Amino acid sequence: MTPTRSTFAGLETWEIVFWYGLIALSTAVFAWGVVRLVLKYRRGRGPLRFDRPWTRLRRAATVVFTHSWIKRRDPLAGAGHFLIFYGFVVLFLGTVILAFQDDVAKPILGWHFFRNGFYEAYSLFLDVFGVALVVGLAIMAYKRGIQKPFRLSYRRPDRTESETERRAYVIGDWTFLGILFFLALTGFLLEAFRIAESNPSFEVWSPLGWAAGHALRGIGVSGEAASTAHFVQWWVHGVVALGFVASIPFTKAVHMLTSPASVATREERAAQELVPIPAGAKPDEVGFGTILDFPARYLLQFDACTKCGKCHAACPATNSGYPLSPRDLILDLREVAEGALGLRRELGIPPLHDPAASVLGDPIRPETLWSCMQCMACVEICPVGIEHVPIINGMRRRLVEQGEMDSSLQQTLESIYETGNSFGETGRKRARWTRALDFEVKDIRKEPAEILWFVGDYASFDPRNQLVTQTLARVLQHAGVDFGILYDAEHNAGCDVRRVGEEGLFNHLREQNVATISRCTFDRILTWDPHSFHTLRNEYPTFGVDWEVVHHSQLLLELIEAGRLAPSKTLDYRVTYHDPCTLGRYNGVYDEPRRVLAAIGTELVEMPRSRDNSFCCGAGGGRIWMSELKREDAPRPSEQRIDEAVALGNVDHFVVCCPKDVTMYEDAIKTSGHQGDIELRELTELVWESLDLPALVAAATHEREEEQA
Ligand code: SF4
Ligand code: SF4
Repeated sequence: MTPTRSTFAGLETWEIVFWYGLIALSTAVFAWGVVRLVLKYRRGRGPLRFDRPWTRLRRAATVVFTHSWIKRRDPLAGAGHFLIFYGFVVLFLGTVILAFQDDVAKPILGWHFFRNGFYEAYSLFLDVFGVALVVGLAIMAYKRGIQKPFRLSYRRPDRTESETERRAYVIGDWTFLGILFFLALTGFLLEAFRIAESNPSFEVWSPLGWAAGHALRGIGVSGEAASTAHFVQWWVHGVVALGFVASIPFTKAVHMLTSPASVATREERAAQELVPIPAGAKPDEVGFGTILDFPARYLLQFDACTKCGKCHAACPATNSGYPLSPRDLILDLREVAEGALGLRRELGIPPLHDPAASVLGDPIRPETLWSCMQCMACVEICPVGIEHVPIINGMRRRLVEQGEMDSSLQQTLESIYETGNSFGETGRKRARWTRALDFEVKDIRKEPAEILWFVGDYASFDPRNQLVTQTLARVLQHAGVDFGILYDAEHNAGCDVRRVGEEGLFNHLREQNVATISRCTFDRILTWDPHSFHTLRNEYPTFGVDWEVVHHSQLLLELIEAGRLAPSKTLDYRVTYHDPCTLGRYNGVYDEPRRVLAAIGTELVEMPRSRDNSFCCGAGGGRIWMSELKREDAPRPSEQRIDEAVALGNVDHFVVCCPKDVTMYEDAIKTSGHQGDIELRELTELVWESLDLPALVAAATHEREEEQA
């Protein structure tokens, strides 16, 4: 007996014709669903960009086939999805091969390849991948049904339970898993009945079906009974499979299409480099107000969300009782987009949402948008490439345009406009910190210098931060660095101004800084403020400047490696280091501060959330200027971070390298009740101590202790 099988064994001609009719129907519904999605996305603002197609396709293929984004921070879920993905792909390819054999190779080409060795290898391969699919589904069911991690809970931080209706999502999740389970199990059963019917020896190459077939024979299911069961099973499995294919564009399965498309069309640096508002834009063209204002790729991204909740788990706002979850925000926008532009429209049913109505207020509440710290933790971890940060920023822009903002934020923005700094101080006070130095700091407007030091607001005006700024000046002087500052001509760089959505004020600040800096002569710009660093380095160039900008952690490392700073005292401290969001996730500067800490002899103990998984201090995105929005009983992000550091045990110092972190964490050490357990140190302060210049170190320590007292 030749090892092979006939797809349509035992079927009448009309049944085969009927089957092909069902295939045509399923394919047509699928195709209509895809076209409908494309039409929906085309209603967004602007076309779906697909420049650099090969780069985009390569990225999507790499992400999809390696699962590199999906497996991050949850390897078990990653493994589950990996098994489901490859199980599904191989079983699908197996069906395609069968269709090619039945519809093209055999009838048209007279080529019957589906037999002997090919058939046996095919059988084994599909059995193995069928098992992989079942195991993967079992892992996912375990995660959703038994393990139930926080990220998979549909509880919303911005709504009471009675306001939250997520039953449709829960049903959708389980139906999706259930149908795949059903298809896998009925596939095996189909095989088992076929083997039980006549028990051909070559079917041993389908080991699972073989075992199941023999079990059936053992309980008396063979011959005619098995043949009848096989017939029924064939139709059940086939019809459900075709139904599943037809349902893909309309159900949770749509992510099989939209997620790779989202990864391919996302803008790699969209979160870091916000898009300027076009000149002459009318008020209703500023940012996003209605669903039609969102670019096509964002409408696609809303459908790409798999509800994995990784952004929900990573978000400092969600974790600290703020009324924001990046996942729920995306799902709300998806519901509006679908309700306004989706299936109902195609079917001629009145839409659930008016496409021209604002989404601000309902369902996206202003307090949700103001809760965001623009920390990029969501964008960084999202496995399907959703750009929450510019999406939130776009809606903030519209709120600002409409004059709807928190009063303390408004006051700060007015101060910045009037004085050029967020402290509302006169410009003359900006360089007062230099008075404590025993040397003159160059005015780079008047004389050239190798380094233009852009100091930043917090580093200039905040008393605790001034100590760090003075220490950094001493370190640079000691290393023989030729540097100068802008004195009263420096203005707030505009990072957080832009992140709150005040693009007009950002442009005003940028123009002033660009005009001033462009008149100076220097090689590089230095700053110890990651926010200024980020904006000068990444956002000003969009407007035509091209400067080399370095963070002080990079310069300190450079000076140490060049021998211009020679740490002579090994600091045998156990320290932990906090990655600032704008330095780490926004700019990828992770190693330099750590290498500096190693060079001065400290023992670095990493917190569980470090590097790209760092947890925001709570100040970013302009939140430091706004009134509190979080639930009273929830600890602030900075307090949670200090708890995390103290839990490491025996850590002497919490090391930071951002002025806002100095402010936030000095405060959090006190309010979290950890005074005496851990001490905050800025990176420069440790470098300075390691230089072992006794008199100067003693003076700096004394100053710091006085400030802390
Ligand atoms: S940027 Fe940060 S705070 Fe804002 S939604 Fe994303 S994770 Fe949450
Ligand atoms: S937005 Fe991304 S990370 Fe968040 S739930 Fe959706 S797919 Fe997951």
